[in-house]
Amino acid sequence: MNLGKQYVLYLFRWQLSSPILAGVLILMSNQNQWTATIVANLIGGLVFFWIDKYIFRNSIRFPLWEVQEDIKCVDCGQLTRGYRLVKTNNYDRTHDKSPEFRCERCSRNKLQRLKDEGIEI
Ligand SMILES: [Zn+2]
Repeated sequence: MNLGKQYVLYLFRWQLSSPILAGVLILMSNQNQWTATIVANLIGGLVFFWIDKYIFRNSIRFPLWEVQEDIKCVDCGQLTRGYRLVKTNNYDRTHDKSPEFRCERCSRNKLQRLKDEGIEI
């Protein structure tokens, strides 16, 4: 989800809290207004925690790379800084049991092979 869409969804979600607030204030009109507002916000929090979690679930910008110092490149054996592509929109090695790191040159070659296979970057 891009930021613009996320923002519009978030503003719309805030509007959804209006009926809860208004409804509780009407139903509890014989109570103290502060008490009614606290109850309304408690109900809102119980509901919107899950909706907000949904809205912000994918705020990571892809592609996601992992970088580690002093690794041995799996392709050429060079001891250097290593790169590993972890996740894109249609590629996921988040839970890879034996992650493979490559030097910059080999990781660039590997990325080209993945692109040829249809990975979206
Ligand atoms: Zn290498």
